[in-house]
Amino acid sequence: MSNSTKKARLRLRVTAAAETQLRAGHPWVYADSVREHNRSGVVGELAVVFDRKDEFLALGLYDPDSPIRVRILHVGKPQQINDGWWDERLRQALERRRGLFDEQTNGYRLINGESDGWPGLVLDRYDRTLVVKLYSAVWLPRLDELSRLIMAQLQPRHLILRLSRNIQEMARKNISAEDGQMLYGDPDTSGQTCPTFLETGLRFEADVRHGQKTGFFLDQRENRRAVESLSKGRRVLNAFSFSGGFSLYAARGGAAAVTDLDISAHALAAAKQNFELNKNIQAVVECRHELVQADAFEWLGAPGSRQFDLIVLDPPSFAKREAERAGAIRAYERLADLGISHLAHGGILVACSCSAHVTAEEFFAAVRQSAAKCGMKSREIQTTRHAPDHPATFKEAEYLKAIYLQFT
Ligand code: SAH
Repeated sequence: MSNSTKKARLRLRVTAAAETQLRAGHPWVYADSVREHNRSGVVGELAVVFDRKDEFLALGLYDPDSPIRVRILHVGKPQQINDGWWDERLRQALERRRGLFDEQTNGYRLINGESDGWPGLVLDRYDRTLVVKLYSAVWLPRLDELSRLIMAQLQPRHLILRLSRNIQEMARKNISAEDGQMLYGDPDTSGQTCPTFLETGLRFEADVRHGQKTGFFLDQRENRRAVESLSKGRRVLNAFSFSGGFSLYAARGGAAAVTDLDISAHALAAAKQNFELNKNIQAVVECRHELVQADAFEWLGAPGSRQFDLIVLDPPSFAKREAERAGAIRAYERLADLGISHLAHGGILVACSCSAHVTAEEFFAAVRQSAAKCGMKSREIQTTRHAPDHPATFKEAEYLKAIYLQFT
């Protein structure tokens, strides 16, 4: 993707600390690390970072309005960024996933942002529908070239655009693009709104144009598989169920009953539909499926002591900002307390966190603390982090973690 500016290349010098960070592989230059530049830059243009000896250090995509001023594409020797380079970069992301999935899984992440060398950009596959989600304005001026590249290498039936909230207005104003817009595909073809895809042989629908993230929580697949292997004969509660991902795995794994608990009627309707889609699987048909629309904290905290043998807690992020970190850790402990109070003897708690501002160790400590004071004995089955199609190569990219405890 070439950049058509005729001006002199934008050149920056950064602080010594930022230089060290870049050499260590950190993909961002913060605004307050920029010491000087030769001119002002426009959103999305290439910026070259020079080191203190005035030698080429890195290059990346510039954003004059973001505290993350440059999103790094390349560090090391000088590099020409042309169509061939972008082509190769996409190829590398696809190559990284080669062999991860067989034909039973055609929904997974193809590009996971910075950790795949594509800062602020996610590309998800749902069978023959691809969804590109932009989290940074640096991609807006390059959207046409980006679409062409994706179409040429991957030939999807539909290509959908998703935009994070903070760039929606700029996208509308600058390039007349909308969140949920179809960039490519026949608008009359059924399935472009909610394509059906396979995850380890289970069928799911993803609301790719309006749903959270890109329509489905692809990041939880490995935890769902683990839950399947622990579910036989158990009464399962899937709290914060969204579209029932964990529940379908539990059902296939032989759960006696599964309860989906979510505050959103829309999410529960999707869970019902996903159970319908899997009626070809005997264990799913035999599993009792219940839907409960409620606030999970209130429902779990209400008097009465309904018991479950396996409880999944997968709430939305409790800490959107660093300032919310301490409160989030307390909320995780409180939620674990509530979950554990509903576990039958021998029951299993699977507690997940997707708050990037809470580290894995802080989260595990909160849940272990809750387990330690509950009066039952517990044994740790495992802790998990990111799935292989969701690599996290630097600290800020790490958000997902889960801890599995069994109580006796
Ligand atoms: N476990 C899911 C993803 C969960 S996303 C999966 O594997 O696909 C978080 C879900 O929590 C959303 O569906 C949201 O509607 C729900 N939610 C948010 N706040 C809630 C609350 N207070 N009580 C219950 N559900 C809540």
